[in-house]
Amino acid sequence: MKYADIIIDISHERLDKTFEYIVPTELENQVTEGVQVVIPFGQGNRAITGYVVGLHNKPEFDVTKLKPIARVLKDSIAIESQLISLAAFLKKNYGSTMNQALKTVIPIKKKENEKLKKEISLNISLEQAQIELTQILTKKNHAVGKERLLRELLEVDVLDWELATKKLQIPSSNIRDLESKGIVKVESVRTFRNPHINKDANQKHIVLNEEQEAAAETIKADIDTGRRKTYLIHGVTGSGKTEVYMDVMEHVISMGQQVIVLIPEIALTYQTVMRFYTRFGDKVSILNSRMSPGERFDQFERAKSGEISIMVGPRSALFTPFANLGLIIIDEEHEPSYKSEVIPRYHARETAVYRAKLAGATVILGSATPSLEAYSRTQTGEYQLITLHSRAMGQDMASCEIVDLRAELQSGNRSMLSRRLQELMADRLNKHQQIMLFLNRRGLMGFVSCRACGHVLKCPHCDVALHLHAGGKMKCHYCGYTTVAAKTCPSCGSKYIGSFKAGTQRLEEIVKELFPTARVLRMDADTTKGKDGHEEILSAFAAHEADVLIGTQMIVKGHDFANVTLVGIIAADISLNESDYHSGERTFQLLTQAVGRAGRGSEPGIAVIQTYQPDNYSVVASANQDYDSFYSQEYAYRRLLSYPPCSHILGIQVSCDKQQDAIKQADILADIIRQADSNIIIMGPEDAYIGKLKDVYRRVIYVKADEYDRLVNVKDTIEAFLLQQKQYRNTSTWFDFDPIST
Ligand code: ADP
Ligand code: ZN
Ligand code: ZN
Repeated sequence: MKYADIIIDISHERLDKTFEYIVPTELENQVTEGVQVVIPFGQGNRAITGYVVGLHNKPEFDVTKLKPIARVLKDSIAIESQLISLAAFLKKNYGSTMNQALKTVIPIKKKENEKLKKEISLNISLEQAQIELTQILTKKNHAVGKERLLRELLEVDVLDWELATKKLQIPSSNIRDLESKGIVKVESVRTFRNPHINKDANQKHIVLNEEQEAAAETIKADIDTGRRKTYLIHGVTGSGKTEVYMDVMEHVISMGQQVIVLIPEIALTYQTVMRFYTRFGDKVSILNSRMSPGERFDQFERAKSGEISIMVGPRSALFTPFANLGLIIIDEEHEPSYKSEVIPRYHARETAVYRAKLAGATVILGSATPSLEAYSRTQTGEYQLITLHSRAMGQDMASCEIVDLRAELQSGNRSMLSRRLQELMADRLNKHQQIMLFLNRRGLMGFVSCRACGHVLKCPHCDVALHLHAGGKMKCHYCGYTTVAAKTCPSCGSKYIGSFKAGTQRLEEIVKELFPTARVLRMDADTTKGKDGHEEILSAFAAHEADVLIGTQMIVKGHDFANVTLVGIIAADISLNESDYHSGERTFQLLTQAVGRAGRGSEPGIAVIQTYQPDNYSVVASANQDYDSFYSQEYAYRRLLSYPPCSHILGIQVSCDKQQDAIKQADILADIIRQADSNIIIMGPEDAYIGKLKDVYRRVIYVKADEYDRLVNVKDTIEAFLLQQKQYRNTSTWFDFDPIST
């Protein structure tokens, strides 16, 4: 006999509440996770519908009190069924409880008080506003925020404050300034949350070039003949992938179906979002991670009701409850942010392909630097490869020079900037062209160490270095622990204790020393603390309010800067030296994207890659913009060491506030795995990369196998063991399939 867990209300706070029912033998074949069933409910045995979210062989409650399922709702194509099946997929393939999986897929509506919203509208006539706008435009270095606001208000009557400041990235100071001049007024009103922008009627329609046309036609022809596949569009930076997506989207929408577009959060900028809005108008809705649960819920409701047909957002947009989903697009498919960092740790790519299968939809992945995972599947025929070889408007790719930093050092230049890069910078500044300087995130950080003995000062609660902060304090960036900065080294007593400046900060100083008149902007974790800091800096640079933009990898995504003709990569090796099998791939991706930033406009661009390893294949291949050569070398390396995509890895982490218990429990789990699958490869247990965090000790085990399902079995075995284990209940265990950092 089988027993089913059934939820009767999936929309609101009752996801946790399941009811157990008997599965009658004659229904056993039809009752699977996700199906909609009719059950007798409550005292009066009222017939109501529910969804099956779990099945088991042993009842959890007194069997004599359980009632049987009445019937299965046949052909129930309810979107809820699809989402519950998707949750079951997450649970099985990534490891979580059904509850965690359901909550990932279905947003919970929190009871929220009707919020007071602020709205902005014109306080002057349209003609006067037009005059104001013209005056703003004639000013040199005018505030783009003010321009944007006035342009918007010439189109729409009222503008939501949140929308203006978040999506349109208009600084609130700009709005307040126009308010104080009596040009606009800001009022608080009660309104329904509903972002709204008018479709731009005067947009220029882009005609696809031959390559783009062929790509779009291939996909549309398949859709028209009922072939639903997964495509990988490999197109160089600036090849016009987004235009291809939009052409196919239009086709799918004309068939009455809906579209989900995934974009990495970091690329969800004003520029990208506006392209979708201007093309599809208010059929589009945008999700972003800064939205409240209520706002997200509202957007999902709009999707369910058919009010919108395109959802653009980061990975969670994948769960938009479109009833008739026809297409899922994943732009920048290689981005690590598509892997969830919370349980269940799903990958949006695999999950999208599964959802598309349930819905009968098409998937398009796009990237200039495809992941090894996706590209290898085009080689086996699982995905279909479509290549865009040239830039959309025929611009040449930037030419690229590699500078050997070892030779630079030998000839006496110890600066972060090579002579060649300095020379090119001077030239560009003379010509009033713009420059981007790029330094990998994991450069020298501001951690505190002793220059005499090398001792690094660590947080007492975490296994990480402390950072120096203003006011003579040291702080832990993981737990917030703060203490007075040490004056002497606790290890050797030396006075030579201090912090290295973050690489970007140091670089900014150097550039300002060398080029005192250059206007420099810096973008890194420090300068983008404010909610919109990120976008403000990019907009300012786009408006040529600065000549040089210095930044971490944040600056290589999302924005097109037509006036940038020089890109400098200060230290290409930093990401190569990470002890992670992805480091070659990450380096190639970052360098290629960075090089691709140069020469987007009419002027040709140059990229300079400074490196200590000029012969490294990731560096050479990115300089040549040669993906194929990178892929074949990287694939050979993965195969040799049997790393994904040539195999699969399951990471298992055990954590506990008692170090001994974490160690013992990890040892026990390793034994269980050995017993369950004697031939499987086990690495560890060992301390996690950060072995202690907030006073919790963490041990990891990695298990490797060629077949994913074997790892799923390992996970299932451990889950079953943990359920009945009585000891070490103070430890917690989680799973990470194909972790993106090991
Ligand atoms: P990708 O996503 O591949 O980097 P985009 O779609 O962002 O490329 O296109 C790069 C630039 O080229 C954009 O400014 C876009 O508007 C423009 N573009 C793309 N296709 C065409 C075309 N067929 N004709 C004119 N401009 C185009
Ligand atoms: Zn010391
Ligand atoms: Zn800490």
